[in-house]
Parts: sequence; C-alpha cells; structure tokens
Amino acid sequence: MSNEVWQRRHRKKLMRKNPHCSYCNRRLTATTVTLDHEVPRALGGSEMRHNLVLACFDCNQRKADMPPEKFRAMIAKGNA
Ligand SMILES: [Zn+2]
Repeated sequence: MSNEVWQRRHRKKLMRKNPHCSYCNRRLTATTVTLDHEVPRALGGSEMRHNLVLACFDCNQRKADMPPEKFRAMIAKGNA
C-alpha cells in the first residue's frame, strides 16, 4: 500500500473518531482537514501513524517545522 493511500485512510479514521484540529481544536471538514506530522520530519519525526495527527490547514501552515509543544504553547498564549 502506498503512503498516500494509507494516510488517506488514516485521516478518514481520525475524522470519524474526533474531527477536530489537534492544535487549535477547531472543527474540521473534508475541505479544511490536513494530516500533520506532529513531530516534523525535519526534526526526526516518523512517517508512522502515531506521528500523524489531524490539523486544520492554518495550523499546518503556521506550525511548519516547529516542535508540537512549542506550537501548542504559542496557540495557548493566543500568538498563533
Ligand atoms: Zn488548527
């Protein structure tokens, strides 16, 4: 199975379970959902499913290669 196929399936499964952004908690729809590497690949994050979380498009763009703790702290302070 190609990466793309199982990632799409994984995203669907996560959407059924809890369709919210893992960072800002915004409700996601099929058009706003993205799959984010929680620990960015640039920081050694893996391609495995435990490292792939749902994120809204905005968070995915803003987070980029930031570590997840740092990005969540930024959102908590309202700086994201
Ligand atoms: Zn978000």
